[in-house]
Amino acid sequence: MNAYALVILAAILAQNALALAADLFNLRALRPELPAGFESVYDREKYARSQEYTRVRTRFSFVPQAVDLVLLLGFWLLGGFAWLDGWTRGLGGGPIGTGLVFIGVLLLAKSLLDLPFRYYSTFVIEERFGFNKTTRATFWADTVKGLALALVLGLPLLAAILWFFTRFGDAAWLWCWGATAAFTLFVQFIAPTWIFPLFNKFTPLEEGELRAAVLAYARKVGFPLEGLFVIDGSRRSTKANAFFTGFGKRKRVALFDTLIARHSVEELVAVVAHEIGHYKKGHILQGLALSILQAGVLFWLLSLFLTQPGLFAAFGVATPSVHAGLVFFLLLYTPLEVLLALGMQAFSRKNEFEADAYARATTGAAEPLVRALQRLSADSLSNLTPHPLYVVLHHSHPPLTERVRALRTGA
Ligand SMILES: [Zn+2]
Repeated sequence: MNAYALVILAAILAQNALALAADLFNLRALRPELPAGFESVYDREKYARSQEYTRVRTRFSFVPQAVDLVLLLGFWLLGGFAWLDGWTRGLGGGPIGTGLVFIGVLLLAKSLLDLPFRYYSTFVIEERFGFNKTTRATFWADTVKGLALALVLGLPLLAAILWFFTRFGDAAWLWCWGATAAFTLFVQFIAPTWIFPLFNKFTPLEEGELRAAVLAYARKVGFPLEGLFVIDGSRRSTKANAFFTGFGKRKRVALFDTLIARHSVEELVAVVAHEIGHYKKGHILQGLALSILQAGVLFWLLSLFLTQPGLFAAFGVATPSVHAGLVFFLLLYTPLEVLLALGMQAFSRKNEFEADAYARATTGAAEPLVRALQRLSADSLSNLTPHPLYVVLHHSHPPLTERVRALRTGA
């Protein structure tokens, strides 16, 4: 065990301990009393069910976390990385082919390991609480499409990164950064028209009261809405959502059919106003800029550590290579990744308050959005009293009680 090995081991253990502590605190923060102001959407029994849902999901999440940790440490300490490196080199594919197989095998193993947990979560837990609408056929089709998409999109980018590092020396990280930024923008650009339709059907929202009300609101705030779609979320789950995609002329708002079914026109306009708020406040571009900036930091640091023999020795790998260095560096990067994720979540929670405030200001009322958020939360049995540590670590949205308070007080 050299210094790199000790740092990485400590980081992995600390990250797992932190996640476990947050889960345990979260379970202890569950109280049987319903928070004030939620009487219209929860009765006693439903609130008890929402707490049971949090308990069941949290306890279940311990299993994959433990399995992942044990397998990662076992694979590492039993010399798995060295064996995989030797085996892939033996295939004689050159630095890029070898790298693609090395990383591909690890990613494939990880997604195969996740599969039984995803299956259990969908067909046992979600089923038990009445959320699941996914058929076995949809589940397997989603799995295959997800893998195919990862292959089609991920493989060329990974090959480019490996090639830049074998070709451009000290400047390679800049090339990687540029390629990753271009890739991110490209995916954002093609996602609404090429990726999302692989998984869901998008139907233009039919003429009627809802369409007229949403378009009238969009016109009022000077937001040219090219596409207003209904998405068949009910194929997979009863849970509802709405989202915004695209830039410039390709801006689209998509409302889940499950959302439309359970909310009034006034509430749906408030939800769209919140989504448009994200765009108007620049959150979408800022989020994109931040993720591109993070990629730059990651590649720059990677380039510093790729030449350190100690990093490879920590995993028992004798011959330094870009592909192994990339995987080992990502493990070393764990603490920084956690910190950056905390920053991104905090940024996202701040944006949610801003989008809520935008919706309140432009629709002239807080109550429709309050009612929509409360019903959304009750329908998905979400946890109304998350522990602050859990919020800091995992929540991209502020706790609902805080959002309702901010909406009502205008703070
Ligand atoms: Zn939002």
